[in-house]
Amino acid sequence: TRRKLVAGNWKMHGSLAQLAELDAIAAAARANPQVDVAICPPFTLIAAAAARGDLTIGAQDSHQNEKGAHTGCVSAPMLREAGAKLVIVGHSERRTDQRESDAEVYAKARAVIAAGMIAIVCVGETEGERDAGRAAEVVERQLQGSIPADGTATQLVVAYEPVWAIGTGRTPTVGDVAAMHASIRTKLGDMLDAEAEGVRILYGGSVKPSNAAELMAVNNVDGALVGGASLTAADFVPIIEAAA
Ligand code: 13P
Repeated sequence: TRRKLVAGNWKMHGSLAQLAELDAIAAAARANPQVDVAICPPFTLIAAAAARGDLTIGAQDSHQNEKGAHTGCVSAPMLREAGAKLVIVGHSERRTDQRESDAEVYAKARAVIAAGMIAIVCVGETEGERDAGRAAEVVERQLQGSIPADGTATQLVVAYEPVWAIGTGRTPTVGDVAAMHASIRTKLGDMLDAEAEGVRILYGGSVKPSNAAELMAVNNVDGALVGGASLTAADFVPIIEAAA
């Protein structure tokens, strides 16, 4: 059976002072040992966050190369040295703002795994794509292009984040979440064979204390990728408890 993973994505939020939130989050992680818990702060806070305690710390992006003339970028070995254990790649905000393609996300996921970290590969349809009845097809295409087919269940996590649910307070129905996660599991089976059964599929998009239990109970939902509600322990700890 798959261990649930509850990961927080701080996006472009946080400060050294805000790392104080991590203490209560780490305590909740220790109190719920059956759940994996992680926080992905901005690059600048990774080392301090990792040094603060035993909470698993991740990053929100990685360059695909180990080093080179790429001003402003950060590589997977650098993130690992800073203390990151996992890295989000292909978040919809980067697919949109930085125009990241499936091929780039694939290369980034490979780089993260090669550096000894877990890659959380994000997929998800826009509202227009869902309205057009194309959600499953879009997500399948993203998986096909973004997931390294030699990845193992310990190296790879998939996050399904419908773009229209991110930061909006709107979520799909539990039926829609169940259908999409089942379709992702099937596609992973085609790509990864036996490894697919162990890959965690997280749901992300407006997860909060009031809806976490309902979402975490859905078949093939193996945890959550949480944005806004991961910024404070007051919001994030109940989500960890809902996954336990
Ligand atoms: P919110 O939880 O703020 O909707 O963000 C979800 C997300 O994008 C996590 O990566």
